[in-house]
Amino acid sequence: MNTPIVETTAANATNDSAEAVIRIENLRHQYGERVALNGVSFTVNRAEIFGLLGPNGSGKTTLFRILSTLMLPSSGRALILDHDVAADPDGVRRQIGVVFQSRSIDVKLTAEENLIHVGHLYGIKGPVLLERVKEMLGRVSLGDRAKERAETFSGGMQRRLELAKGLLHRPQVLLLDEPTTGLDPGARMDLWQYLRLLRDQEGVTVIVTTHLMEEAEKCDRLAILSHGNLVGLGTPAQLKSEIGGDVILFDAREPQKLAEEITARFALAATVLDDGRVRVEREAGHRFVTDVVEAFPGQIDAVSVSKPTLEDVFIRRTGHRFWNEDAQAQAEREAATAKKKKH
Ligand code: ADP
Ligand code: MG
Repeated sequence: MNTPIVETTAANATNDSAEAVIRIENLRHQYGERVALNGVSFTVNRAEIFGLLGPNGSGKTTLFRILSTLMLPSSGRALILDHDVAADPDGVRRQIGVVFQSRSIDVKLTAEENLIHVGHLYGIKGPVLLERVKEMLGRVSLGDRAKERAETFSGGMQRRLELAKGLLHRPQVLLLDEPTTGLDPGARMDLWQYLRLLRDQEGVTVIVTTHLMEEAEKCDRLAILSHGNLVGLGTPAQLKSEIGGDVILFDAREPQKLAEEITARFALAATVLDDGRVRVEREAGHRFVTDVVEAFPGQIDAVSVSKPTLEDVFIRRTGHRFWNEDAQAQAEREAATAKKKKH
């Protein structure tokens, strides 16, 4: 997309007086016995890009379906611009644009035909609709491809058409479920640049779900989900600042023993991760590493010292890694099925 680069302002991240556009109050959802959302509450302010970060199966799509009025919650409430998703779904639908994880455009139709079709669903007609379609295609840099079938488009272009579709009725709130899945890095950057443009120039509130840390870093604020629970809420910087100093990982022959010895000797929490490494949070990590290696000669095979990431926040809040093997396997299965569907 040929949109200009827009500076992200910190003001969006910490605007305390900002009005809440979305209110989620103690939201619960169960599929039969399985609890997918376990009493989640937070608010989203006007003109912020708000991320829902969580591994596969954490409840992101469930929350997304409830907000987009496709599904009723088991209990609790969700309000978008004061419309209750359960009591007033039509009111909600007028305010939101939705971009689903799976493809919703008709690839046999041209870009223009796809949007005209959507316009009719919203009751927009005639010259007004044609003008709107032209404007939207121009905005997502598909103006010169209006008369071509969507099947001739790249993945990034198809996503942009999805976006134009979600924006056609000028919603104040845009909901996107894992919007960059399957996009190459260039197309990802374009999409993010466009979301910032919507936020900054039109005051659109954006909710985006993701399982990618680098994408979560780009959000103004984040809600972190794990097994249907809200385990973190704040700006990426706020969330990371709760971890004092550095994160140190030790590879050891006997991780459990090393963790206990570090705790006993240095009076700090040392945890053994799913992958067998011993993890410690500590100021001046490089100096601490020397102390540990000297204190326990021959026990440590390798060491790494790094600045905290959002994954560290997740580990601290949940006690386990973001990607355990189950989640990884599930993600790979889903990617494989998605690929098959395309062919
Ligand atoms: P995410 O989008 O974060 O991957 P989901 O909201 O899709 O998470 O899933 C949350 C939990 O609910 C998972 O345990 C998932 O297996 C389960 N789940 C999702 N959809 C259904 C469904 N239609 N029927 C039964 N269980 C479901
Ligand atoms: Mg999902």
